[in-house]
Amino acid sequence: MKLLLTTSQGIEDLAKAEVEGLLSPLGVQFRVEERPLGVEGRVLAEVGKAFYTDKKGRKRELSVSTYLNERSRLLHRVIVEIASERFEGIGEDEPERALKRIEDFVASLPVERHVKVSETFAVRSFRKGEHRITSVDIAKTVGKAVFDRLSRFGTPKVNLDHPAVIFRAELVGDVFFLGIDTTGDSSLHKRPWRVYDHPAHLKASIANALIELAKPDGGSFIDPFCGSGTIPIELALRGYEGRIIGLEKFRKHLNGAKMNALSAGVLERIEFILGDATRLSEYVESVDFAVSNLPYGLKIGRKSMIPKLYMDFFSELSKVLEKRGVFITTEKRAIEKAITENGFEIKHHRLIGHGGLMVHTYVIE
Ligand code: SAM
Repeated sequence: MKLLLTTSQGIEDLAKAEVEGLLSPLGVQFRVEERPLGVEGRVLAEVGKAFYTDKKGRKRELSVSTYLNERSRLLHRVIVEIASERFEGIGEDEPERALKRIEDFVASLPVERHVKVSETFAVRSFRKGEHRITSVDIAKTVGKAVFDRLSRFGTPKVNLDHPAVIFRAELVGDVFFLGIDTTGDSSLHKRPWRVYDHPAHLKASIANALIELAKPDGGSFIDPFCGSGTIPIELALRGYEGRIIGLEKFRKHLNGAKMNALSAGVLERIEFILGDATRLSEYVESVDFAVSNLPYGLKIGRKSMIPKLYMDFFSELSKVLEKRGVFITTEKRAIEKAITENGFEIKHHRLIGHGGLMVHTYVIE
């Protein structure tokens, strides 16, 4: 079985490592590839049949997709691949021709193996790149091709709102992909614990990627701009045993973070402090790891205040940080100046896709 796994752009390597770590104990053959066919934000896992022994001692097949949906912290979707194909030049095709190519391809696929005719289905689509067709065109075309094919076996049932089976059709550049979306309509990064919605909250998958980059070893950990608490909450949910602190300047967000932590069942694991990160050393004497999604100034406050805010914060951080820091921001120039002028060294830099932007991520020591 081939599983197409989606995640944020720029963290495919971390998602691959996570999937390998999850599949290893299953004793199953597998191969995981980052960015299959060059598509960003995607990981492909080829996995053999996995089994487990139930309470009565019977050998049962394990659903690897359910297993990954339940355990992954970095993935957004787990999609069972039906087929993928490169459609050379589809970006320049007239809409009619582009859609005909997709329709003919889908009509040739044995979709009946993936959905019973008695089950309701819907097609959800995703498109990225330059095309003359829209994602709505793709969903309609694929839906028609699936419907026509299933009509050979009975009377197919479409339910766009609450389908039993979700087909996912993606066109990214010239790569077309069709699969069954086992995750459902809500992406895995939308955590069920989120009861307070911060206007600039970080995707939980990216929060986990930042935690992976920080490699916390059980030492104390702070998110000095914790907002709704995504990073400390996700760390606590991983079973982290060290001290976890979330600092936030605005009471409204701090209360929201506490509500989220309560809903996640980890409130007692996190010390939430109302305070200003530019006076960090007043709240903590020393901390091993600092991981944060810094204010960008786009959604919060005035952008002109960012360079001074970063300079003051990193100056304070230099008084307390013992091991490693990981920070994500759009403000490349301001953060690099603040990092280097306060005696830190950039150990790693990468771009991560977040909210339609490619955001700079730094590991510093
Ligand atoms: N990662 C958070 C989440 O997922 O909800 C969002 C962090 S948001 C980008 C940045 C946060 O920094 C905001 O909640 C903002 O109120 C807070 N903030 C701004 N200036 C601050 C300061 N001087 N000290 C502490 N927090 C501050």
